[in-house]
Amino acid sequence: MDPKKRVEELVKIIEKYNYEYHVLDKPSISDQEYDRLIGELIELESNYPELKVKNSPTERVGGVILEGFDKVSHEVPMLSLANAFNEEELKSFDEKIYKDIVFNNQYITELKIDGLAVSLEYKAGQFLTAATRGDGLVGENITNNVKTIKTIPMSLSEKIDITVRGEIFMSNASFKKANSIREQKGEQLFANPRNAAAGTIRQLDSKVVAQRNLDCFMYQIVKPEDYNLMNHSDSLSYLKKLGFKVNNEFEVHKDIESVINYVSKWTLNRNNLQYEIDGVVVKVDEYRYYELLGRTAKSPKWAIAYKFPAEEVITKLTSIDFQVGRTGNITPVANLEPVRVAGTVVRRATLHNEDYIIDRDIREGDYVVVRKAGDIIPEIVKAIVDRRESDLEKFEMIINCPKCESKLVRGEDEADYFCLNEICPARKVEGLIHFASRQAMNIDGLGEKLVEQLYSEEIIKTIPDIYALKKKAYELLELERMGAKSINNLLEAVEESKKQSLEKLIFGMGIKHVGSKVSLILAKEFKSMDNLMNATYEELISIDEVGDVIANSVVDYFKDNDNLNIVTELQLLGLNTEYISRINRKQIFEGMTFVITGTLSKSRDYYKNLIIESGGKVTNSISKKTSYVLVGENPGSKYQKALDLSVEMLNENGFVHLLK
Ligand code: NAD
Repeated sequence: MDPKKRVEELVKIIEKYNYEYHVLDKPSISDQEYDRLIGELIELESNYPELKVKNSPTERVGGVILEGFDKVSHEVPMLSLANAFNEEELKSFDEKIYKDIVFNNQYITELKIDGLAVSLEYKAGQFLTAATRGDGLVGENITNNVKTIKTIPMSLSEKIDITVRGEIFMSNASFKKANSIREQKGEQLFANPRNAAAGTIRQLDSKVVAQRNLDCFMYQIVKPEDYNLMNHSDSLSYLKKLGFKVNNEFEVHKDIESVINYVSKWTLNRNNLQYEIDGVVVKVDEYRYYELLGRTAKSPKWAIAYKFPAEEVITKLTSIDFQVGRTGNITPVANLEPVRVAGTVVRRATLHNEDYIIDRDIREGDYVVVRKAGDIIPEIVKAIVDRRESDLEKFEMIINCPKCESKLVRGEDEADYFCLNEICPARKVEGLIHFASRQAMNIDGLGEKLVEQLYSEEIIKTIPDIYALKKKAYELLELERMGAKSINNLLEAVEESKKQSLEKLIFGMGIKHVGSKVSLILAKEFKSMDNLMNATYEELISIDEVGDVIANSVVDYFKDNDNLNIVTELQLLGLNTEYISRINRKQIFEGMTFVITGTLSKSRDYYKNLIIESGGKVTNSISKKTSYVLVGENPGSKYQKALDLSVEMLNENGFVHLLK
């Protein structure tokens, strides 16, 4: 799109969203979507400075002053904060600080309370006025309403003149209560505690405010030098001494690594608080650097707000296409306008199957809610029907395979459609990609793109062809982007993969319903491919974790001559077909059940395998019988369930410790 047009469009829609959020307290998009739009505008303005409009939203503090309230000027402007969305952005904030400050620096971190900023003025220790942030220079006089907040002292412990700032918020319990009263009265519900607090504080009737039970944490003293305060942590202590409520979770840090640890801790624990936080505020602790570092029109340069990744965001679904899996299963996939979900940019998300789309009436062109399912695969939660722009066409499932055109079939009790064509190129390619993948035979360098290329050049058609690659070095050299070095590396990786233990091979073969966990169980039980090929249904079903569907699938797989031929060929090509116990692990987890949730620094399968090799089991759902929950970042609902059932939780370090 023409950048000039896009800038105009962005300014217009951001102003509309600002109005809905700051004036009406009724946002129609998520904060993350808003932040993405602002980010896009900042980037365009920095690439094309001539397009920047006067009073651009990137330079203005959001609010507008409501009619009905007196205006209050802020002697020292009330600014917003610059944002960081990931570790790199925190590190680059740190680098900028050190570029400008050569001295040692301490950081102080505080929870970013999701409410609205307030400025309180005291004369001779007595409360005088309270004001909202407004546009940063002029706010609304909310003195009468603030008097109803019990945690704001009307007189201080010292008879001083002082202006202090903080965040008015509504606790989760008060929010629930306020909404249940509104529900009874048939009034529209507040979207979240922040909007409830902002809407309440700007009520013209103070009696209503008093009923809503607002609360307030203070975090700033204006002109701290007047009180001989040298750093922010001293200010917080002084605020407490004066009688203000200060959030106790702040911490002082020697370096940015320690700040990052604090951020990780609160990303995990944010839902355990009685109030909502939307991030962590990182500030330089020592005031002597503040002036040196300066500010932009909108925010100080000595602080940054780390915003938690969204678990659910809204974006536009531009089109739906269909993926053919290695078993022929067809998965509808949504192509999205890129959006950041739980820390990563998402462009595609699963729509699972036909029923899923039809039940939710999701259509191409809709705005949709996207979330990370089980914190890993993005999925579409629902369409926002109110925002449907025109008469979009209802979804219809395709009837032919998008690759080989065979008619698709949906089994009686199946949710998926299948392409039954055994030689469908899409199925073959997916099967080969799966075989080479990290969780299966782990052939480094043989990724999706190369497999597709080798398949279309007819260099690899079947799994055994992979092991004949060394005879085709000249053909490989003819391929684009393949030099002698990368070919050598690839051939080495192929050779190396021959040594993989049996479970990797079983998983790589792609037997329907046999995942990596079941592959390991089968490998441990049968010890060799020969034994597994000859296993009867009864032998299979007698294994704890193997049910009817898996047992039948394994038996059927080895009834097929083509599959038997592949196994024989692989044996002749020198592949290991025995189970190799990697480490003689002590069975310390015997009888224990684990659940894994959240994003870990290593793959979930890595931990799954460690647990199984040590005698434990891994299940998907938490019950009272669960021994431990291994918790990574952004753990989702399982975390809360573990808390509810008092199941012991471990982070990665704790797990490693337990294993030792
Ligand atoms: P902000 O919320 O990103 O950060 C600044 C604010 O953080 C401060 O003004 C203060 O009120 C608050 N804060 C909380 N705890 C703090 C602490 N310990 N120390 C210092 N400050 C603390 O910026 P903003 O200008 O208030 O609001 C902009 C944000 O509001 C956007 O990034 C977006 O997330 C949201 N927004 C959403 C929409 C929408 O339509 N959804 C529209 C406009 C703005």
